[in-house]
Formats: sequence, structure tokens, C-alpha cells
Amino acid sequence: MGYSRAEIIEMLCAEGAELDALLARATAVRRDTVGESVYLRGLIEYSNVCRKNCLYCGIRRDNRTVDRYTLTRDEVLDAARHAWISRYGSVVLQGGEVTAPQHIGTIASLIREIKALSNGELGITLSLGEQSADTYRLWREAGAHRYLLRIESSTPSLYARIHPADGLHRYNERLRALHDLRATGYQVGTGVMIGLPGQSVEHLADDLLFMRDTDIDMCGMGPYVECDRTPLADAGGSPGPLAERFTMTLRMIAVLRLLMPDINIAATTALQAIDPEGRLRGIGAGANVIMPNITPDAVRGSYRLYNGKPLSLDSRVIERCVAYGVWGDSLRFKKR
Ligand code: SAH
Ligand code: SF4
Repeated sequence: MGYSRAEIIEMLCAEGAELDALLARATAVRRDTVGESVYLRGLIEYSNVCRKNCLYCGIRRDNRTVDRYTLTRDEVLDAARHAWISRYGSVVLQGGEVTAPQHIGTIASLIREIKALSNGELGITLSLGEQSADTYRLWREAGAHRYLLRIESSTPSLYARIHPADGLHRYNERLRALHDLRATGYQVGTGVMIGLPGQSVEHLADDLLFMRDTDIDMCGMGPYVECDRTPLADAGGSPGPLAERFTMTLRMIAVLRLLMPDINIAATTALQAIDPEGRLRGIGAGANVIMPNITPDAVRGSYRLYNGKPLSLDSRVIERCVAYGVWGDSLRFKKR
């Protein structure tokens, strides 16, 4: 839709009655384009082993206090079976970035086995970081059809502030990966963290324009939440109160819904870390996807990207409009 940068910035500053009107407009647009349904993706946190060192993330490589785990084949398949029996429609396999050939082969096998155990019914989304085009193709051919890779911030200078300058965290490489995913035929999701130190409302407006210009199919964005023992949290430099980051996330969801009415937008877990009603409020701002965590309990505490990460879903949210047993693909992707 034809909103200018100035109009977007203005909407991102909405307060009080104006904010309520913005959220109401966004939910009306959602209803008239993608409908009232909320789609579920059972989130399986496959592994907290990661080769990267993102300055904000609790499972970054150099955090020696983390107990590293990788789920076994049976644990993944049990979780997927649970999702299938619960008629979630889709699962997300998410984890740290690992590029070892053995890992790549294991993921391909898991994708095939999840497809087989569900008679091809479970949709599979991956969120496993930057990989080669060949790896993306292998996983796509194995049966995955959506991929989430957040740009984190679309402003290269801000991206550089929140990642180490070691050659492994390059903005252009992130762009390359997003491009390869699209070329390989995935539904592509991206997103950003909201409320980063040094981030302005202009940066956030540019993030939304980036998503529009990149013509994404899905978005998952959430508040930045400090994580103990990470360089970004240790550096201080207040990014402002959590409550404001929460409200800004609602504004971002609402404005994105106005800009791109027919994409899938997730109400993310990090919203829930700030407010017990977080995901519900995300739906009330125009989101239409929720990712209940179905990671086995034994390892859940070890996949801690940020402080206060909620361990389970409030079922009330789910009851209202959930569309069970369907993939809930991005309408935008279908039209393409
Ligand atoms: N390793 C993969 C997927 C797992 S991390 C990747 O990085 O793409 C998934 C997301 O968690 C990241 O994209 C990041 O946006 C988010 N995240 C990490 N640390 C966070 C923090 N402190 N606050 C909020 N979100 C965070
Ligand atoms: Fe690894 Fe992803 Fe965390 Fe970065 S954000 S350290 S890539 S898990």
C-alpha cells in the first residue's frame, strides 16, 4: 500500500486513542484480507549449538554458561507427532546456526521423517540461520516450504553495532541468504528486533519499508529483551523501558498489516516475555500466527535467547480463532 516514510513514522508514534484506532484499522484489514483465522506452528527448538556470536543472544557461541544440547531424532519426531495429533498444521524447526555437513544431512532426514509420519500433512518451517544455496535447496527438496531469517535490523550501521565484526556476521551475507531462499521457492519470512539500543523510530520505519520492498511472505518481529551475560546487555545503554518496546512492537505489527495486508505475521514469544497477554495483544494488533513451544521440557531452560522467556503457552489465546489442521500458508505467496 502506498504509505510514505513520513506517514509510517507518524503511525509509529501513535498514542492513546490514535493508537487504539491504528490497532483497530489493522485488525479490520486483517479480517478483510487474510480473515479471522489464527494459524499455529509448533515450535521445536532443535539445538542451542551455534557458530555465531550475535551480541544480543543468550546462546551465542562464547556464552560458556549454556548447557549445549541437540535434540535426538526421537525427540524431534515425538514433538512433531504431538503437533500433528494436536492438529497444529505446521511445525517450525529452529536452532543455532550450524553448517557442518553432518548437521545438514540430519536436518534433511528429519524433514523427510516428519513428512512421512504425518502423511505429508504437517507443514515445515525452518529457522536455522544462514546456509548455502545448496543446503537451502536440499532442505526444500526434502519437504520444508517456509524459512524464517530475520534481518534483525535493515540499517547496515545498526546491524554492525549488534554483531561482531569478525567476517561471520555480515549484513550483505544475510541479504544473500534471503535472496537464495526466495530463489529456492520457499515462503520467506524475515523480521527485526524492536527497541535495540541506538534504534530510532526512523530505523523502524525503514525496517517496514525493507519488508515491503523485499516483498516478504511472512514476518516475525518482537521486542529486544536483554539477556544476561551478553555483550549488548552488559554494555548498558538503555534502550528504553520494556513496556515501550512492547507497545512499539504492537505498532510495528499494525503498520506492517496496513502496508502488506496479505502476509502472515506472527505474534512472537518475546511479546509474551514482557506481558502474559503478549501474544493475544499481538493478534489484537493484526498478527495471525502463533508459535506454541513444543520443545521437550527437559531442554527448554537451555534455549534461552533472552531473560524471562516464557516456557509455555496460555491456551486461552489459542481457543478463539485457531484454524486447526491446515498449513495456513501466506496468502501473498499463493497469489505470487
Ligand atoms: N539462529 C537462527 C534462529 C534462532 S535465533 C537465527 O539467528 O536466525 C531466532 C531469533 O531470536 C533471532 O533472529 C533474534 O531476532 C531473536 N533473538 C535473539 N536474541 C534476542 C534477544 N535478546 N531479544 C529478542 N530477540 C532475540
Ligand atoms: Fe546464533 Fe541465532 Fe543467537 Fe545469532 S541469534 S547467536 S545466529 S542463535
